[in-house]
Formats: sequence, C-alpha cells, structure tokens
Amino acid sequence: MTAGVTSPARKPARPRKGKGEGQWALGYREPLNKNEENKKNDDGLNVRARIENVYAHRGFDSIDPADLRGRFRWWGLYTQRKPGIDGGKTATLEPEELDDKYFMLRVRVEGGQLSTEQLRAIAEVSTTYARDTADITDRQNIQLHWIRVEDVPAIWQKLEAVGLYTTEACGDVPRVIISSPVAGIAADEIIDPTPAIDDIVEKYIGSSEFSNLPRKFKTAMTGHPSHDVVPEVNDIAFVGVVHPEHGPGFDVWVGGGLSTNPMLAQRLGAWVPLDEVHEAWWGICSIFRDYGYRRLRTRARIKFLVADWGIEKFREVLETKYLKRKLIDGPAPEVPAVQGDHVGVHKQKDGKYFVGVAPVVGRVSGEKLAKLADVVAAHGSDRIRTTAQQKLIVLDVEESKVESLVTALAELGFQARPSAWRRNTMACTGIEFCKLAIVETKARAAQLIDELEERIPDLDVPITVNVNGCPNSCARIQVADIGLKGQLVMDADGNQVPGYQVHLGGGLGLDAGFGRKLRGHKVTADDLTDYVERVTQNYLKERNEGER
Ligand code: SF4
Repeated sequence: MTAGVTSPARKPARPRKGKGEGQWALGYREPLNKNEENKKNDDGLNVRARIENVYAHRGFDSIDPADLRGRFRWWGLYTQRKPGIDGGKTATLEPEELDDKYFMLRVRVEGGQLSTEQLRAIAEVSTTYARDTADITDRQNIQLHWIRVEDVPAIWQKLEAVGLYTTEACGDVPRVIISSPVAGIAADEIIDPTPAIDDIVEKYIGSSEFSNLPRKFKTAMTGHPSHDVVPEVNDIAFVGVVHPEHGPGFDVWVGGGLSTNPMLAQRLGAWVPLDEVHEAWWGICSIFRDYGYRRLRTRARIKFLVADWGIEKFREVLETKYLKRKLIDGPAPEVPAVQGDHVGVHKQKDGKYFVGVAPVVGRVSGEKLAKLADVVAAHGSDRIRTTAQQKLIVLDVEESKVESLVTALAELGFQARPSAWRRNTMACTGIEFCKLAIVETKARAAQLIDELEERIPDLDVPITVNVNGCPNSCARIQVADIGLKGQLVMDADGNQVPGYQVHLGGGLGLDAGFGRKLRGHKVTADDLTDYVERVTQNYLKERNEGER
C-alpha cells in the first residue's frame, strides 16, 4: 500500500457559481469577511509593539477588540474562557461575554526540541505568571494559562533569552513545524529533517511574506520510518524516503486536515532532497497564500484547494509558476502498521538510549517541568523532546543510568512503561480554558484512564481514545480508534447533559482513514467509562487474528 494517497472522505461544499472565493491570484483583493478585513487593516505581527508599548501598561480593558480577538494570536495569545460558563452557552454568548481577562499563551517548540535550560525557562514562566499551568499539545507546543497582558513583555524576554518564542504560534500563519521527536538520534532513521526546519524558521517565521495566509498552515516533517508526526492530517508533510538513484530525501504530501470536511493528505509524487525542502515548502505556502480561498473561513484551508484542483494540477502550478523547474519523481514511503510514539526505552544510533514517557493527557505543570529538568540533568542529559502524541522523550542517556532515570521520571508521574490506556489516550484543552468548548476533556480523560486501568488492566493492543471538547478536532477525533466529539447529549431522563458523539474505527498509518460517526453512539460524560469498556470488551471477544 502506498502512503498518503487517499481520496477525500466527503466532498466539500462547492463554491457559489460565478463568485470568486477571495483568491488573491485571481484578483479578489478586497476582504470578503471580517477576518480578512482585520488582516488587511494591519499585519498581525505589528500587534507586538502595541502590547509592549501600550496594552501591557494600560491593562486588559485598553485592548482594541480587533487586536484582542484577532492579531494577538499572531503572538500566541488567545483569550481564555471565563470560568463557570456552561457548555450549552458557548454558541449563544457574544465573544466578550465568554472572554476572561486572562490569556492562553502558546510557546512554539519547533520540532519538539528543548534543552534543559529552555525547559527551566518555561517552568519559571509557568510558576511566576501562569499559576503553575503547562500542557503539552499534540503539536509539540507547550501552552500556559492565566497570563495577564501586563506580564507578556517580561515573559517574552525570559523565553527569548533561551531561544524560545511565541511568534506565529496561532493565527493565519505557518504554525509550529512538527517533527520526528527522535530526529537525529534514532538508529533506524532515514533522514534528519532538522536542518530544513531551521532553514524555514530562519527565513519565513515572523516575516511578512506569510503573515497573512487564508488560514492556518500546519507543517510536519519526519525521516523516521514510523511516520511519528501524523503526516496524513497536516497541510503539508515531508516524509522520509530513499530514492533509488538519489538516496535519502522526502516524499511531499499536501492537503491533509481534520475539523469539518476531514481529508487525508495526498502525495505530490515528488522527491525532494534535504537542502531543497525549504524551497518546496516556500512554493506550496505561496500557492496557499495566493490561491487559497478567503471568502468562507470553513473553506479556507489548503485541503479545499487541493481537492478542487486535483493533485496533478497542484504539482504543475508549483513547478511552473513558483519553482520554475520540474521536481524529481519519487517513490512512496513504506507505510508503518502503527505510527511511533517512542514511549519506552530505546537505543540511539550513538549507543546511548532515549526514554519516552507518558504524562496523563499532556498535562504537566511548571513545578514538574523544573523537576524534570533537574532529573534529566542529573542523569547526564541536556535534551528533551515533546511528541505529537502529548508525550515527552529524554535523549542521550547512558545505559547505566537508564533504570534510575525511569524510576525518577515515574516519581514525577511520567511513566516509561504506562498502561495501554494512559499511553493511547489524548485530550484537547476543553471547557476549562477554551472558549469554543462544549464539554470538559482533560479531567474526564484522566478519570477515564484511571477507571479503565482498573477494569481492563492487561489490554494487549493499542486502542487510541481521543477526547475533544467540540467539533474542532484539535485532538484528532476522526483518526482515533475511539474518537469522542464533545457536545450536549440527552441522558436517560431526557435532560441535556455534557457528553460525546462517538466516531469509531479511525486510524493512521496502514489503517489511515476516518472513524465512522455512529448515529446511535452518543454517550453522556458520566457513562463514558462504561461505554469504552463495553466497546473494548466486544472487540476483544469478537476480533479476528491480527484485527485492529
Ligand atoms: Fe477547544 Fe474544541 Fe479545540 Fe478542544 S477541540 S481545544 S474544545 S476548539
């Protein structure tokens, strides 16, 4: 089976005939909605000066609404949800009624690569300014909460002093580049994409060239055969492959994405060497900027353009209009049965070891991160990686120190030998902080893990459970074995209560495809554990040999 070549799950809504969709390259330069108008009025990157010079001194109430709910994102800042607002009110309240006067701050962790010094800086920001919050996201970032605008300049100073930043962490821009967390160290790696990431970050992140895209643009790169960065659901992915004549390089995929109208990325059929990745990335990002749809936010991701053009036309436009040369045809990478999460103890190519551990649904804290830095340093390492599955990896451990490290990490709540439930359950931010959420996620998922560990302690296969607080799919509802989409559901007495619509049987790698939304499968939050247990027991009873 070849990688990534999969037709869209559903046909996206068609544009209205005869009307443009706001594509700049076709001459539609006038903004067609409020977001486009805001972006035209002022580059989101320019808000930094106003935060430093005005808002941080005058406080939350002085912030221009167009900055607050728009441009602040270009620097990783989202207003967080006012505590105590019922999920049923999410869709009916005005944004200002949902807004708290605090922010979520997303710290970009390019490729998930952190030093102990950087970890300590994040920990210090968390304990000083963020009420000790810290979540590892499924895009390898770290998110902090309870941030006051008054503190943002000081936070930037601390982060930037150690090479971290929040530039374009959110907004209609190229987001963090996720990468194999074992890049450069895995014994079985095909190619290390890190130099290409560095190139792109240096040339384009924080530059006005791509600070006004139609919507967000998500990049993934991996040279690991386990395709450990969910490449199928990124706007653009570079996946390591060996060309029979040219050697190791990357196969290029475009147009993946979840949320509404989920689609799997498609192969361009082109092979790109490491030192040309930045150029191919530039060309594809430029196509998105110039031809991407800007009329409807719901059609503004690159996947809609790829679906409408078809992959052949997309490649032709890339080659003729942007790169001005032909790309080299390349082979498809082999698709892994299961994508790697790197949990456990593994040997590096230099003979040392890396240890992957599972915090519970990515939730950590500043205090824990500081202790983690101490433990890592005490075991002779300086490098930590975050993963696209909300996990952590400690690199460069001598064999003699592995077991002591495993024990020390377990004492912090980070297990290198977690149960299958802890290892394979993810959750998005949910109603605790997210303004779009309808239900609680992290705490419910943590409880679910505890209960399932008791009820089915020796599960012998990975069953992924992804808990989302609304239909937006930040925790990848559609590609989980059990995807849970937060919504209000009816309980047995006919009352509307928090719960989930279930999507069953999604997958990545060899099983790449979207789970089926089963009409009858809506479950209340209270009944969730019973439901997952029932589905699992039925599967265990009825599965055929080797069936996922
Ligand atoms: Fe918020 Fe919804 Fe994304 Fe969860 S899936 S973080 S609730 S937008």
